[in-house]
Amino acid sequence: MSRLIIVSNRVPALGDGGAAAGGLAVALHAALEQHGGMWFGWSGENSGDKESDRLQTTEVGNITYALVDLTKRDLEEYYAGFANRALWPLFHYRLDLTDFSRRDMAGYFRVNRYFARLLAPLIRPDDIIWVHDYHLIPLASELRQMGLRNRMGFFLHIPWPPPDVLFALPPHETIVRSLSSYDLVGFQTEFDAENFAACLIREGFGSRVGTQVFDAYGRLFGMGVFPIGIETQTFAELAAASTSDVLVERMRHSLDGMQLLIGVDRLDYSKGLGERIQGFSRYIETNPASRGKVVYLQVTPKSRSEVPEYADMQKEIAELAGRVNGSLGDVDWTPIRYINRTVKRQALAGLYRMARAGLVTPLRDGMNLVAKEFIASQDPEDPGVLVLSRFAGAARELDGALLVNPYDTEDIATAIARAMNMPVAERIERWTPMFERIDKHDVMAWCHSFLEALKRTRVMARAS
Ligand code: UDP
Repeated sequence: MSRLIIVSNRVPALGDGGAAAGGLAVALHAALEQHGGMWFGWSGENSGDKESDRLQTTEVGNITYALVDLTKRDLEEYYAGFANRALWPLFHYRLDLTDFSRRDMAGYFRVNRYFARLLAPLIRPDDIIWVHDYHLIPLASELRQMGLRNRMGFFLHIPWPPPDVLFALPPHETIVRSLSSYDLVGFQTEFDAENFAACLIREGFGSRVGTQVFDAYGRLFGMGVFPIGIETQTFAELAAASTSDVLVERMRHSLDGMQLLIGVDRLDYSKGLGERIQGFSRYIETNPASRGKVVYLQVTPKSRSEVPEYADMQKEIAELAGRVNGSLGDVDWTPIRYINRTVKRQALAGLYRMARAGLVTPLRDGMNLVAKEFIASQDPEDPGVLVLSRFAGAARELDGALLVNPYDTEDIATAIARAMNMPVAERIERWTPMFERIDKHDVMAWCHSFLEALKRTRVMARAS
């Protein structure tokens, strides 16, 4: 069997089977154990001014971890710069937040070349290479220029924007061209795949030669839709066992009979936190009976604080939550509990299960794993209701959720009211098929289906 080479910007902690890093890491580790192979990526270390070509390799069973340090300049330009101030906002349709610094752009392509230079000598001719996410789009084209002919796949975890948004990115053609160097390009939803095809065709970069096969820049390559899953059974078990978790018990005790609404998101402008807080505030204003009866817990670990837009947001959301609590709260009731710390999976599962409703209202999201985790964690006899943005990838699968327009605070308020009043029979009716779906399409199934499609791709491309 061919070895599997996984490449991602961050590599989860060695040797723990990815357990601390979540479902994706667990599934990729399982695939690596099955095939044998290597996980290659940034070590997470900033080497300051010191440039080195040193690879840190560690063997754990039949898996080799190959890690590379990046310099301060690399991290500023490639990671905090082009990846997180150009590609991330633009792929989330936020042209207003993009920064197209030419220095950062050059740094992005330079670091991808650097990764390719270190990776290429480690690759054997029949290895299968699977590259993850927007940080590493140019990797295959760099490896191909170094003469590698291996089967290579790419999965984009974030959305792919429509042509008029993508074309605002100065090197958009290079980005599209880079993707044509893979044998298979995977997206989260049909919408992302349609957007990608439209980008390719509209500018004449390539043409469709089969339902899932494209001809561009002299290559045939496949495209597919692979909505990522979670470890559904693990979450269900963690949630059922969560009564022994201290944090979960403290939360239950503090609720003292009040109903819980929960939101769990990295602090990111794509998550629609401001609109959600306003929607909740509107719900309280228009449902006076809910005063003192409902608590909204928003768990929001800080992220990417080195990027200026994130630092601004941190202040804005904290102030908004404070203003709502100031105007609506009472001596014995704080409507919003806003916390900027990371909560571990076991406790999260218990909090999801305790909540009457989960609020997942991103303005745009590739998938949104929290939506699926919320469903996985519910008590089958008394499930909570998911209030879900129509612009999250998860909305394509979770059709028993109350779908909302995340920009429309009235719509969010109405959905919260509906969730809080929904009879248990309707909650069960909505929840059961959603659980069955995410149980069947869990993260292991996702990983397997991408790899199977990658193994078939060239055969398919030739046949078209
Ligand atoms: N998460 C966590 N603890 C927290 C907040 C988030 O473990 O305090 C996890 C959450 O369970 C989920 C992931 O972080 O698995 C967030 O993934 P999602 O797709 O929802 O959003 P992203 O952060 O990737 O944009």
